[in-house]
Amino acid sequence: MQLIDDEIVVEGNSVSVTGLGRRATELTLRRTAYFVVGVQIGVGFVQLGIVDLLGEQHAATSFEYDIQESPNEVLRRVASAIDALVRSNGTDRRLVVGIGVAVPGPVDASGRRMLLPINLHWRDVNVADQLEAALGLPVTVEHNVRSMALAETRFGRGRGLGSLAFVYLRTGLGAGLVVEGEPFAGGVHGAIELGHLQVADNDVRCVCGNAGCLETVVSERALRATIAAMGLDDTPNPLSALWEARTTSARAATALDEIIASLAKGLSALANLLNPELILLGGALADVPDGFVERVREETRAAVFPVLRPSLEIHPSSLGMDAGVLGGATVALDTYFYN
Ligand SMILES: [Zn+2]
Repeated sequence: MQLIDDEIVVEGNSVSVTGLGRRATELTLRRTAYFVVGVQIGVGFVQLGIVDLLGEQHAATSFEYDIQESPNEVLRRVASAIDALVRSNGTDRRLVVGIGVAVPGPVDASGRRMLLPINLHWRDVNVADQLEAALGLPVTVEHNVRSMALAETRFGRGRGLGSLAFVYLRTGLGAGLVVEGEPFAGGVHGAIELGHLQVADNDVRCVCGNAGCLETVVSERALRATIAAMGLDDTPNPLSALWEARTTSARAATALDEIIASLAKGLSALANLLNPELILLGGALADVPDGFVERVREETRAAVFPVLRPSLEIHPSSLGMDAGVLGGATVALDTYFYN
């Protein structure tokens, strides 16, 4: 068998089978037979990691960049960071089957170009061409949150589920969907703009030009502004800071009520329209107090069509802050190894 000759799968103990025929032999995938590199290009930061065939990260690095930097310059830095990581980890470059890049916005249908991210001044950038030319390895590009949803169904909390929605809070609030085990790219641009549902009763102008978008209440930018207005210290996780302050500050409690209500409106719309079996909360939403998640869950369930309520699960993501890297890696594994 070719896979055994190539040492991709290894033979284990023979499995005892009652009945006739040859004894079956347990085959185990040798997880380090090949690797991929997963890359997350975020707004002002890049994270990357070397990931094995079963989705485990073996080495990681990251850097920040000025969002005014040109895409070409950032991609040049991505290529040299990949090179340096593979070399410093001692990974045999011939075992790296490809690179998956998770980007903060829509991509073209062939998975090569980043089209028009709203939080970054990049326009139609051919990420795959540039990285392939620099590295000599195949590159595929995917919408960041959609790739995270895929990673959860392959290696995370949503493993084996047919449908799942991943909601990611960082600079903006994005959503990605897996349907029948595959990433779902709906419509012309393939994006689900959860952050731009108009659910907030305010006049705050959103980056998209409209007012009252969910992102005007629930996004890193909005949350930082909320805690700054209250005189709370800037922190990596404003949601946790507000949760802490709610018992002593009526303003914090009110702000939290609005945040949870807006988020629940967005999530219940997602559930009512698409009925995923599981909604996973990622990015800054993966690292919040249990009580916060519990309230989001209750308010979302209350707003969901009754028949859908019992089957709807809402949990924090299991992938932590590496969700984007694992997302990119999962797309590369699907494209270059498991296809
Ligand atoms: Zn908007």
